[in-house]
Amino acid sequence: MSAAFDVIIGLEVHVELKTASKLFCGCSTAFGSAPNSQTCPVCLGMPGVLPVLNREAVRLAVRSALALNCTVRPYSKFDRKQYFYPDLPKAYQISQYDLPLAEYGWVNIRPSGQDVKRVGIRRIHLEEDAGKLNHLGQRLGDAVGSLVDLNRAGVPLIEIVSEPDMRSAEEARLYLTELRAVLSYLDVSDLRMEEGSLRCDANVSLRPRGYTGSLEELPRVEIKNVNSIRNVQRGIEYEIARQAELLSRGERIVRETRGFDDVSGRTYSQRSKEEAHDYRYFPEPDLPPLVLQSEWIEKERAALPPLPDAIRQDLIARGIPDKDVEVLVLDREAYQYWKEASPAFSDDRLLVNWMLSDVSRLLNAQGRTFGDCPVRPRQLVELLTLIQEGTLSGRMAKEVLDAMFETGQDAKTVVKQKGLSQITDESALMQVVQRVLEAHAHVVEDYLSGKDKALAYLVGQVMKETRGQAKPDLVNRLLKEAIRGGQTVSG
Ligand SMILES: [Zn+2]
Repeated sequence: MSAAFDVIIGLEVHVELKTASKLFCGCSTAFGSAPNSQTCPVCLGMPGVLPVLNREAVRLAVRSALALNCTVRPYSKFDRKQYFYPDLPKAYQISQYDLPLAEYGWVNIRPSGQDVKRVGIRRIHLEEDAGKLNHLGQRLGDAVGSLVDLNRAGVPLIEIVSEPDMRSAEEARLYLTELRAVLSYLDVSDLRMEEGSLRCDANVSLRPRGYTGSLEELPRVEIKNVNSIRNVQRGIEYEIARQAELLSRGERIVRETRGFDDVSGRTYSQRSKEEAHDYRYFPEPDLPPLVLQSEWIEKERAALPPLPDAIRQDLIARGIPDKDVEVLVLDREAYQYWKEASPAFSDDRLLVNWMLSDVSRLLNAQGRTFGDCPVRPRQLVELLTLIQEGTLSGRMAKEVLDAMFETGQDAKTVVKQKGLSQITDESALMQVVQRVLEAHAHVVEDYLSGKDKALAYLVGQVMKETRGQAKPDLVNRLLKEAIRGGQTVSG
């Protein structure tokens, strides 16, 4: 990237709210049903029908706005955003234009090696989703036709518009990751990018050094509807390089909307970018303004769960390493698993360590998450307690965990069945130690003549005889005692 430009990035994120019914009618919002089976005259845009606002959608939107540090407006209103497209039967979308639900929020991000950076949120508004077109063919270009599915038409959405505060594709990735984490703790959406319940458009422009005009006037390219956070990052990286190349050749950047091809990693031109005035917004005459009582807003604020920033502080205070804290905080299911296990176990570092290494490895191998982990938090605690008590070595515990994953059995059951467990009976172990000493008399002599390494060899022999079931530190002590004792006898 040439140093002659600053990168300016703003993101628009659409989040489908997890309500049972649509924003303005009683139709179900369930994903994956037969096409057009969840429709009615209201969401089909029949003449003469009237929308009725879904109270739960307003509550989830307000909850999201408060968690993202926004000011919720006591008075907002709905507007019609007018455009024609086959997935929009009314030929307008009910949205909010000049008086959105909430404004002036922020999200903190942590670029590596830098201080915490605050990314502003300009506004959050409530709107309805459009339907979906299913193209008959591999891609739009060679489709022989398109089928309209209006199940999604009227599903409640919030649009979260950031300030143009991000300066790299990495910062955009961190912002999206943090935003998703905050929303996941609120339980307001499924947040599945691949199913479209979380969608992101990225606005990218390059500002020449020394430019004094407003950011709004810079030619801006919008990358539309990318299906994963990783691809948002790739799309932005490509776009920065493409625009830098054009500018360095003295060419102009065209204000436009571009798609992203995840196979080639490139963006491609779709259409020239529309402006707000192209939509001819006007106030929705069929809905009264949305008036929210401040007592009600404060009640929702008080009901917010602990959010990522507070959770981070708590975990760090418990001595969990920063790197592990980040993994736990960004995965709500992992955090909830830890939260359930932690009160029953005294060593948080050991617990988190096992969760994020061995348990995660087995979950990944089975394509599972902590939410449906076959080993429940209580069962993991039992296993780790066996390590703490000295019944199992770390290596044996891994073997037990594998079996627990496969069978769903408790640790103690697996230990019994496999005949595992460390030999902690000193007299039983002493017999093995004596046998090893007799069989390796010359190694004992080496040790007595000052070769400390010889002892490690003897420990290894005892571990071999006991098939790894002895505690190495106990073996060590017994060997020293036996050798000393033998000296006294022979001396
Ligand atoms: Zn409907």
